[in-house]
Amino acid sequence: MVDKYKVLINGEWLDSSTGEYIKIVNPATGEIIAEAPKCGVEDVSKAVEAASHAAPAWGAMPMGERSKILLKASRLIMERQEELANLETKEQGSPIRKTMNFDVPLCAEQLEYFAGTARAITGETLPVGPWCMSSTVREPLGVVGLITPWNFPALMVIWKLGAALVTGNTCIVKPPSTAPLTTLKLGEIFVEAGVPAGVLNIITGPGNIVGEALVTNPKVAKIGFTGDTVTGKRIMQLASDTVKQVGLELGGKNAFVVLEDAKIDSAVEGAVFGAFFNSGQVCAAASRFYIHESLYDEFAKKFVAAAKKLKYGDTMNMETVIGPVAYEAHRNYVESCVEKAKKAGAKLLLGGKRPNTADTKNGFFVAPTIFGDCTNDMDIMQEEIFGPVVALARFKTNEEALKLTNDTRFGLSASVWTENIRSGINMANQIKAGTVWINDHLIIFCETPWGGCKESGWGKDLSTMVFDEYTKLKHIYIDLIEQPEKPWYGILK
Ligand code: NAD
Repeated sequence: MVDKYKVLINGEWLDSSTGEYIKIVNPATGEIIAEAPKCGVEDVSKAVEAASHAAPAWGAMPMGERSKILLKASRLIMERQEELANLETKEQGSPIRKTMNFDVPLCAEQLEYFAGTARAITGETLPVGPWCMSSTVREPLGVVGLITPWNFPALMVIWKLGAALVTGNTCIVKPPSTAPLTTLKLGEIFVEAGVPAGVLNIITGPGNIVGEALVTNPKVAKIGFTGDTVTGKRIMQLASDTVKQVGLELGGKNAFVVLEDAKIDSAVEGAVFGAFFNSGQVCAAASRFYIHESLYDEFAKKFVAAAKKLKYGDTMNMETVIGPVAYEAHRNYVESCVEKAKKAGAKLLLGGKRPNTADTKNGFFVAPTIFGDCTNDMDIMQEEIFGPVVALARFKTNEEALKLTNDTRFGLSASVWTENIRSGINMANQIKAGTVWINDHLIIFCETPWGGCKESGWGKDLSTMVFDEYTKLKHIYIDLIEQPEKPWYGILK
């Protein structure tokens, strides 16, 4: 018998109205580790009612009080670091080395950041005098729906939930169906930290049922979504009926551009991290590499040699750095991308096969895979793979590199590697993406805004800019002189 989880609605832990469950599989071993409720539309309605009921009191609570609750949650997360890391590793497949040292501590740090910076949210006084005064205030939106992906289950929910809660919104979280357990565990932590009943509700279940019921519910003021571009488009369409605000953090196909004067060893190190961190299941993963023709051969050789050393296998072993991809159907999709690339004429430099060692054979592993001699018309250079599979191409001039980089429907991130800071900045200015790193790839801080353009979505997570996403700006006008004859009244006289 595996553990059966419950969902959080109005401060109570409940079974779903359908009585059905989703099986949660450890992608490293193929074993079923738990079951989560398969909620339906009725559960969404209950959660929305609870969140609507709780919204006025939570929104009226002083910012400092909400901030203290977040700080307590942050502390509790670190107290339960091992438990959370174990759970995330088992449900998502990220090695324990990463979940212990990266995901869980970052969740705690992120909450501290929101708790501190939200207290500095201010309005403005606007120069409209002398007979009146105008000011702006920021108010909570009300009930918000937060729909999150499976690639960093805990961190993605904390990015949204921390910002939404501290600014006074009540929340309904819909975690990913393949990895909802850490989110439910975080729910316990927020309740223990003092979040009142109805303020945080977590419902698990299929995206096309639970997710869509949230998106179409007229009492939900906003949907904060991170996930696939196709799902984001569907959410935009559905949200239009109630003119609902949507924040969309979607897919990417991120360029890694190595200019002629780059330090090749640093670029190779950045390439390994950018491409293979979290098995490449990162929206901002480096996935198409443009390398100056004079460096191409050396870069390719060193990149392949470095990627070959990455240790994959048992995700509970602290030495393992690469885990499986998150579920079987996704492994099959990644493998189909590899086959397509081979057929399109890309040259396989590394990987391309399913590893078959004792500790990988039952899991959904894909060996780090590098293709060379790629061109922009190949699917491998245009479609998001979301796995440890990357493509290398050559360029001759910076102008050509820029053209190739911008030749994509996505606009999430890119990196430029160069010792000439002028070239780096000029290129960064012209790349159409939400983030451009110079001499690094995949570095994201609490303090820096995150979000893309084009089909990578819009809106920002992180930084203090996220507070604009979860508040509405109200203008308040105050008449300062009792003057029966206001100048503009004359228009009607
Ligand atoms: P997904 O779109 O399949 O699922 C994301 C969430 O949406 C899940 O909770 C899912 O159940 C729900 N969902 C699915 N269909 C829905 C529908 N019709 N209506 C409402 N909700 C629905 O994405 P995924 O496979 O979980 O995540 C991978 C994707 O997320 C990749 O494309 C990746 O690039 C993207 N991502 C983007 C960022 C970013 O910041 N831009 C960060 C992480 C992941």
